[in-house]
Amino acid sequence: MSEYTETLPPIRWADAPKAAYDVVIIGGGGHGLSTAYHLAARHGITSVAVLEADYIASGNTGRNTTIIRANYGIPEAIRFYQHSLELYQGLEDETGADILHQTKGIVWLAHTEMAMRTERARAAMNQACGAQTFMRTPEELKALIPQLDLTGGGRYPVLGGSHHVEGATARHDRVAWAYASGASRRGVDLFQHTVVTGIRRDGDRVTGVETSRGPIAAGAVLSAAGGRVTQVAAMAGVRLPVRTHPLHAFVTNDHAPGFPIILASTELACYVSQTERGQMLIGAEFDSQPSYSRQASFAALRSYSYKITRLLPFLASMRILRQWAGICDISVDFSPIMSATPVDGFYVTTGWGTWGFKAIPAGGEGMAALIATGRPPALIAPFTLERFRRDHVLADAGSAGTR
Ligand SMILES: Cc1cc2nc3c(=O)[nH]c(=O)nc-3n(C[C@H](O)[C@H](O)[C@H](O)COP(=O)(O)OP(=O)(O)OC[C@H]3O[C@@H](n4cnc5c(N)ncnc54)[C@H](O)[C@@H]3O)c2cc1C
Repeated sequence: MSEYTETLPPIRWADAPKAAYDVVIIGGGGHGLSTAYHLAARHGITSVAVLEADYIASGNTGRNTTIIRANYGIPEAIRFYQHSLELYQGLEDETGADILHQTKGIVWLAHTEMAMRTERARAAMNQACGAQTFMRTPEELKALIPQLDLTGGGRYPVLGGSHHVEGATARHDRVAWAYASGASRRGVDLFQHTVVTGIRRDGDRVTGVETSRGPIAAGAVLSAAGGRVTQVAAMAGVRLPVRTHPLHAFVTNDHAPGFPIILASTELACYVSQTERGQMLIGAEFDSQPSYSRQASFAALRSYSYKITRLLPFLASMRILRQWAGICDISVDFSPIMSATPVDGFYVTTGWGTWGFKAIPAGGEGMAALIATGRPPALIAPFTLERFRRDHVLADAGSAGTR
C-alpha cells in the first residue's frame, strides 16, 4: 500500500505545436497519454503530439471510481485486463510516480441462485485464464466485510459471492500525470486547451488534423476521445458501433479507515470502496438514455443511495459530499475497440465505457505497438473493429459491473 506523498515527476509542457508529427493523439485522457508514453518508451517514437481539448484527465479518467480488476466473463477480456492489472502493480516503479496503488480485493455479491451460478462460472473462467477469483460463503463474506448486512435490508439476501483477490484501486489523476510526465520527458509534446475540429484525409489515407491552434500534419492519428469518439471518428468519415451514456458517482464525508475492500453487487448494479482520504466512493449503472450531458442527477443519487444502504446500513448516516458524472463510450457488445479503421493511418481506442480506467496501461501498450508496427499484438487483436463486420462480437455485458 502506498503512503500518501507528493511524489509526482514533473511534466514538460510544449509551447506551440509543430507543423507535423509522426503521430497525433486526440485526447489527453488515460488512454491517449498511455499510448503516447508507450510509443516513446517502448518504440522510441517521440515525434508525437497529444491534443487535449480541456486539461489532461478532465474527461472520464479524472471522474472514475478507480477500480482495477480482471474478473471478466470471456477469456479474451480476462487475459487483457489481467495483464493491465499486473502493469498497474509495477507502474509506480516504472514511472517513478506515486499513484496510490492499493491491492484491496473486490467482492461481487450474489442475491439469487441464478447469480450464484454466474459467479461460480466467472470464478472458474477467471482461474482458467490467470485471474485469481474464488467463491465465498456468506460467513466468509461477513468475516471479510463486518459492516455487510447479509439480509440485504431484508430484500436482497446474500447467498455468497466471488472474491477477486487482486482487485485494486489507484488515484486516477495521478495515473494520467504519471504517463504524461513519462511521455513528455521522452520528447512527446502535450497540449491542453487544444481542440481537434477536423481530420484531414487524402483519399483513404489520413494526413493530419485541424485544431483550434491551426492545422497539424500527421503520419498517423489516434482518436482517444472518450465519450466524444463518435463525433471525432465522424470527422474522418468513420462510423462506430458506439453510443455515449452518462455515468454518475458520489462520495460521502470522511469515515474512519476500516473498509479495506471493494464491494459490488451486479444484480443491484452498485459498488463502493473507501478512498485514501476516508470518503466512501459509490457508483452504479449508467443512464439508459444516451446523452453527452455531464450534469449530476438527483434521481441517480437517490437510486444509488437506496441500493447501497441495503447492503451497508452504516452508510445511511453519512453525508453526501460531492456528486458528478462522466460520459461513457459504450460499444454494442460491451467490449473495447482497439483498432485500425478503414481510413489508412486513422486508429481508435474506444468502447471503454464504464470500465476503461483499469485498461489504461495495457490499452496504451497495445495501441502503441499497433501504431508502431502496423500489427495488433495478440492481447488486443480480438478487439478489432473488424469483429462487427465479421459478426464475431465479444459479448460481455455481465462484466461491465454497472448494469
Ligand atoms: C463515474 C465513472 C466511474 C467509472 N468507474 C470506473 C472504474 O471504477 N474502473 C474502470 O476501469 N473504469 C471506470 N470508468 C470508466 C473510465 O473512467 C473510462 O473508461 C476511462 O477513463 C476512459 O479513458 P479515455 O482516455 O478513453 O477517455 P477520457 O478520460 O474521457 O479522455 C478523453 C479526452 O479526450 C478529450 N477530447 C474529446 N474530444 C476532443 C477533441 N475534439 N479534441 C481534443 N480533445 C478531445 C476530452 O476532453 C478528454 O479529456 C468510470 C467512468 C465514470 C464516468
